[in-house]
Amino acid sequence: MNATMTMPNGGLPRAASAVPPSNEQILRVEDLTVSFDGFKAVDGLSLAVERNELRVIIGPNGAGKTTLLDMICGKTRPSAGRVLFNGQDLGRLNEYEIVRAGVGRKFQTPSVYEDLTVLENFEISLPRMHGLLQSLAFRRTAALRERIDAMAADVFLLDQLERRAGQLSHGQKQWLEIGMLLMQEPELLLLDEPVAGMSPREREQTGDLLRRISVGKSVVVIEHDMDFVKRIAHRVTVLHQGRLLSEGTAAEVQSDPRVIDVYLGH
Ligand code: ADP
Ligand code: MG
Repeated sequence: MNATMTMPNGGLPRAASAVPPSNEQILRVEDLTVSFDGFKAVDGLSLAVERNELRVIIGPNGAGKTTLLDMICGKTRPSAGRVLFNGQDLGRLNEYEIVRAGVGRKFQTPSVYEDLTVLENFEISLPRMHGLLQSLAFRRTAALRERIDAMAADVFLLDQLERRAGQLSHGQKQWLEIGMLLMQEPELLLLDEPVAGMSPREREQTGDLLRRISVGKSVVVIEHDMDFVKRIAHRVTVLHQGRLLSEGTAAEVQSDPRVIDVYLGH
């Protein structure tokens, strides 16, 4: 089943794809709720994401977007409801097991090893790596290097492999972290505002990248920039006060009076 998800060289498909969602639900969020001292940050939320789908989540600050991702990846435990990934209840798994099951999560700020080179960051991102030294000493094989080169090319960093990650631009660090997540071949990638702070050109490249990533996988992206959302999203989910306000294509949610009222109107 995994064989179709990656190209033989470990790289992503080349073309920015218009592959439609597949009707195969990879993620189901059912009646999910979490309370922090009685305040419901997410409140009875249900949604489903299909394989090959790029879903964008939008909504005002404090709508519960990040908290939703926190619950999917096991960082925050729901008070009620559940998250099913390929039919498996993630509530039974810890964060590490959820990663192993195929869910990759990128937080808002880039977290890369600034003192290591880009190449070294890719090397230690591989699964089954236990400890920095072991991975650097034992994993530098030709096949591995080929895979890293393919991934570095996918995330626009092929000519940056020998640079220290700390010297990269903010956008390049975001790409590096996305590439490091992809090395683990997740089936579902969760990204929290990945293009915040990027230049227009970097945003465009990232949009193409996310579209390519969604082929054979699923991507859930939190984003605010509606022009960007319109370009990349198959579907958009709008959250407001922890609840689902609207869902549909970017054009559909943009013309939904409820969305205009609480979010886009401002
Ligand atoms: P968004 O990402 O949509 O801006 P968040 O999911 O970060 O919103 O937050 C939703 C609401 O939940 C906010 O009011 C926030 O203050 C609150 N919240 C999030 N995490 C916690 C927490 N660990 N403890 C208490 N309140 C929290
Ligand atoms: Mg947030």
